[in-house]
Amino acid sequence: MENQNIIVLGHQNPDTDTIISTIVYSQIKKKMGFDVKAGRLGEINKETKFVLSFFKQEAPELIESVKEKQVVLLDHNESSQSAVDIKEADIVEIIDHHYIGNLSTQKPIYCRFEPIGSTSSIIFKLAQEKKIKLNKVQAGLLLAGLISDTLFLTSPTTTQEDKKIAKELIKISKVNAKKLADQMFEAKSDISGMDIKDIIKADYKEFSFKDSKIGIGVFETAKPEVMSPKDPEIFQELEKLKQDQKIDFCFFLVVDILKQNSVLYLISQKEEEVARNVFKGRIFERKMILPGVVSRKKQVLPPLAEYFGENS
Ligand code: MN
Ligand code: MN
Repeated sequence: MENQNIIVLGHQNPDTDTIISTIVYSQIKKKMGFDVKAGRLGEINKETKFVLSFFKQEAPELIESVKEKQVVLLDHNESSQSAVDIKEADIVEIIDHHYIGNLSTQKPIYCRFEPIGSTSSIIFKLAQEKKIKLNKVQAGLLLAGLISDTLFLTSPTTTQEDKKIAKELIKISKVNAKKLADQMFEAKSDISGMDIKDIIKADYKEFSFKDSKIGIGVFETAKPEVMSPKDPEIFQELEKLKQDQKIDFCFFLVVDILKQNSVLYLISQKEEEVARNVFKGRIFERKMILPGVVSRKKQVLPPLAEYFGENS
């Protein structure tokens, strides 16, 4: 296990925050003298692609296996969202802003969990604490990660600290944040060349509760109206996904970034019953309307976790 570099890794179905924090954190670790490389666990989405080309950055290396490798986990801490063989890896560090999941380690490691808008925000704080000066590009990248996860500081996951961090990052990067956010949202909403399966799985995560495994796909868009004509196909793909993944419940949430509400797809009586109990929204054509809901992490998962009992 010696002589191998440490892999800095975000979650499966990577989003902008996962990719950006991986890139910048591996650069910081290198500066601190560690032998590290940035890795990723899947295809880069359109928003992230835009951000990488905007700041002229390479995507992290695609990682197939982490067996017997040292890994730093960013932006996740649940085995179902990590590398397939994560249980055979040597986790040396975890930095995350989600609830604490089901991963365990055999020895003491550095863990940093904060209820903050993005992992990018934590990476900014770590750089400050370690007195490592971020360059313009690194600051711009972290700003993009923060914008993506907080829907430009509008999501309920946004903290006062995120707002301060955004200001700092704008100062260092000299980026026009509003313009960057607009371009990112446009890239996020572009579904050309994507089939329904890609759209559902682009930001799909699984969660293990006491007796149930749940999958939730999220699609954030500034153009939700393009989705409903595709409903029959969406329901079909969701049913297939539920079978393939052998999960007990499968949900899909389309988030309207501009109007700040969502539509939750209910593929069977089972999902409908859960949604009626947990969210109590109005149901129309097998979809529940959820006014003000934009965050899986803060508004969808906690009530579901409460309903299903604590994590197993
Ligand atoms: Mn993420
Ligand atoms: Mn994140």
